[in-house]
Amino acid sequence: MRFLLLLCLLGASLHAAPNIVIIYADDLGYGDLGCYGHPTIRTPHLDRMAAEGVRFTQFYSAAEVCTPSRAALMTGRYPIRNGMCHDQVRVLRRFSSGGLPHDEITLAELLKGKGYTTGLVGKWHLGVWSNDPKHHPQNHGFDFHFGLPHSNDMDPNAGNPKLANALADQKAEYWNAPLYRGLELVERPADQTTLTRRYTEEAMKFITVNKAKPFFLYFPHTFPHTPLFASPAFKDKSRRGLYGDVVEELDWSVGRVLDTLRESGLAENTLVVFSSDNGPWTLMGETGGSAGLLREGKGSTWEGGMRVPGIAWWPGKVKPAVCREVACTMDLFTTAAKLAGAEVPSDRAIDGVDIAPLFFGEGKVEREVFCYYRGQQLYAARVGPWKAHFITRSSYGPDKPVAHEVPELYNVEEDPSEVRNLADQHPDILASIRRAVEKHGATIKDVPNQLEGVVEAAK
Ligand code: MG
Repeated sequence: MRFLLLLCLLGASLHAAPNIVIIYADDLGYGDLGCYGHPTIRTPHLDRMAAEGVRFTQFYSAAEVCTPSRAALMTGRYPIRNGMCHDQVRVLRRFSSGGLPHDEITLAELLKGKGYTTGLVGKWHLGVWSNDPKHHPQNHGFDFHFGLPHSNDMDPNAGNPKLANALADQKAEYWNAPLYRGLELVERPADQTTLTRRYTEEAMKFITVNKAKPFFLYFPHTFPHTPLFASPAFKDKSRRGLYGDVVEELDWSVGRVLDTLRESGLAENTLVVFSSDNGPWTLMGETGGSAGLLREGKGSTWEGGMRVPGIAWWPGKVKPAVCREVACTMDLFTTAAKLAGAEVPSDRAIDGVDIAPLFFGEGKVEREVFCYYRGQQLYAARVGPWKAHFITRSSYGPDKPVAHEVPELYNVEEDPSEVRNLADQHPDILASIRRAVEKHGATIKDVPNQLEGVVEAAK
């Protein structure tokens, strides 16, 4: 009898480790969802997820472009710590030889160590395995993989007008992105009109097949990064044009994932987080998204470049609320590790903090400073409601950075659009942010950059 009781208790404690699902949109802006105020894009599934969960209003990606953002999410560390950011190269390209260093510990590896089955459906962008197989996600802790190695615009066909700076043209014949299952090439060019649907089917299957034991599903979508493609069921349905069609299909996808969890009886034991890797690619005009009331977009360290939607859902555990505390994608590493009972690595700096108290409505979390890097340069830093810009630059274009002898200073809680520079009035606050930045800077070591190398064939 005692033995049975012990078995039951063991079973209960094993079962207590929740499944973790992270759904990551690409270039989705702060203002692109119904629950974040978009007037015409319909996102009923994400709106419901937000109503049943926690919707963050000050949630950040740790970088303003794809590759470093994903490196931070996977490792809980600013990309400056592992060479996954670069001032000029910005992101890994089709012919890049570099990738996430193998001495980094990914969230997948950490959770795998606690008995989780780990799956990646979607865009990796932490190393192109056709250039070097060691960069494949299966060598970074993922048991299962289906998706693209990089962004959907990184393999243009000859004659593609991208070369004439006309990326806004969304014709399928211009693109040649490869779709893989594991190391096996499934399709090239990938039929991008079916990608969201096929990703979703793979994600649902992964959940269903692995429902008997804990799993980690990392689901980084290809869209709404341009070029944009929607399936026939969504094309021409939104009042926001093709961009709206694509976001509405992503919303459908989130609904299917949550329904699968509900129908499998897993909803009460699964933490799902939805976010975006960086702000909207506003340079793309109608095919780029919106940062709402925030300034600038992707590529910029103004708020619109890095503050993104952030929604956490776990029925019966996450307390439904709007959370106005600062949180970021690096926190998901630490929080997921702790929920899974995994040891957060102590032999290296981890920048994410445990935000479970924000999920569960149990108080605040301590965070000294949030840093805004563009490439390898620290452009801005936030302490409490105050954000100092040491360097400014407007988004992704060719304009030059401006270094400020006296940093610009904004209270981003009173002035989220960053229009009133209050530096003259608050030298004391500037000084305290400088101290926090110096303390942070003292923890940064020189590491080899991973983004600048290219494979021999491309030279
Ligand atoms: Mg992106």
